[in-house]
Amino acid sequence: MPKATLTRPAHADLETVLVSETAIKNRLKKLGAEISAVYGKEEITVVAIINGAILFTADLLRQISNPVRLDCIRVSSYRNETKSHGKPKLLHSLSLDLTNRHVLLIDDILDTGKTLSVVVDIIKKLKPASVRTCVLLDKKGRREVDFTADLVGFEIPDKFVVGYGLDFAERYRNLPCIGVLKPTLQNPPEW
Ligand code: 5GP
Repeated sequence: MPKATLTRPAHADLETVLVSETAIKNRLKKLGAEISAVYGKEEITVVAIINGAILFTADLLRQISNPVRLDCIRVSSYRNETKSHGKPKLLHSLSLDLTNRHVLLIDDILDTGKTLSVVVDIIKKLKPASVRTCVLLDKKGRREVDFTADLVGFEIPDKFVVGYGLDFAERYRNLPCIGVLKPTLQNPPEW
């Protein structure tokens, strides 16, 4: 009888792990407390940029004690490539009314800054009471537009990362940690 072993599929595809599952869990607890401290007892209207921010948002919201409303926005940015091109486009708009609401915009990663600056501009036009941004990861060295997130999980180096919601060609989002793919997997011909 073969022995059952616990393995995490696709971990073998990573060259390095940049942020471990435990580090994410610990940071999210602190980030949740920071968010509650910023908003006091106010209701927060969370807008998650999907798909990348799905896992981060789901876990972070459970660390926030404030009343929360949740909506999602979809923006085009990266496709099956490791470099972004042009201006991000809105692919899916909001359902909730943001007028006079405290909006917390959540994204997986702040890279060139184009996505968040475009989305913040869109949200500001909807006349919210306030807009703040929260990102799990910040690649400060890659900024092309001047943008600073209000809340940041981790600063990371200029590497293309996958895991914990971040994909490469829609794969690897389910990895519990964040890491860098092996170079041989970054441009597989069949993708
Ligand atoms: P920005 O507009 O700031 O350049 O890029 C933000 C978006 O680009 C993120 O929401 C994410 O979808 C994508 N992105 C940027 N860097 C990475 C990365 O290292 N890995 C992955 N998977 N996506 C990234």
